[in-house]
Amino acid sequence: MSEHVDVPEDHPRYESLLTRHRIEAGVDRGITSRQGLIAQGRGEAFDYLLGERTTESADEAERVAAAHLLLADHAVLSVNGNVAALAPEETVTLAEATGADIEVNLFNRTAERMQAIVDHLREHGATEVKGLAADARIPGLSHERGKVDADGIHDADVVLVPLEDGDRAEALAAMGKTELVVDLNPGSRSARTATVPIVDNIVRALPNMTAHARELADIDEATLREVVEDFDAERALDDAEREIRSGSFE
Ligand code: ATP
Ligand code: MG
Repeated sequence: MSEHVDVPEDHPRYESLLTRHRIEAGVDRGITSRQGLIAQGRGEAFDYLLGERTTESADEAERVAAAHLLLADHAVLSVNGNVAALAPEETVTLAEATGADIEVNLFNRTAERMQAIVDHLREHGATEVKGLAADARIPGLSHERGKVDADGIHDADVVLVPLEDGDRAEALAAMGKTELVVDLNPGSRSARTATVPIVDNIVRALPNMTAHARELADIDEATLREVVEDFDAERALDDAEREIRSGSFE
């Protein structure tokens, strides 16, 4: 199985088709679960309604999320099978730009899939990948789904949880974490629970967060705090819903 895909670059759905192929390849390699295919389909539908672009409002949320990552005592980027298949390198680059840890955290956890994702991230330049220790728990979740690393997500003050299931997003919020959620569905519980909901495709959100992090890197802490405090999560969700309603679809 190869990364090569035969999608003509002038195809109007080029990016979308490429993304689909990456998820397919992720399933073939044991990185992405079959459930992950369904999650991707749901995401694509919302992306279509949003015009398959980063809205101004999402861009602002990405800037705020970057500021949170820079301000954190301990930031962790949580990676599941979809994120690993779609944007492994982009995840590593964002971790490097912000000093965040990377932790693999799966809804359907199996030892094989955990290891396949850790290896895949290392192939894409990650040095340390957490998640295999699984020596701590998120309170309120069943045993397998609650597993995290004591020195990873459990200890973090800021977590980026892309494409997260609503239960886990709520449980992490209940632990008092600052949650940055990437989710194309502005109505999902994950997005509604987030400190910063980022209603954008993960393949666009991560590189844009990295660009913002680089731009904000030399800014003083007081200004970064202002960026964070000015943000209104409710408004960001309303903006996304308005974009969906007012879109013209091709
Ligand atoms: P809940 O409703 O409890 O929040 P869920 O049942 O929606 O959870 P999933 O279907 O696993 O749980 O959630 C996946 C979420 O990720 C969906 O809301 C989907 O829109 C979003 N999603 C899927 N692919 C992408 C992507 N490439 N970029 C951003 N978001 C995506
Ligand atoms: Mg959801």
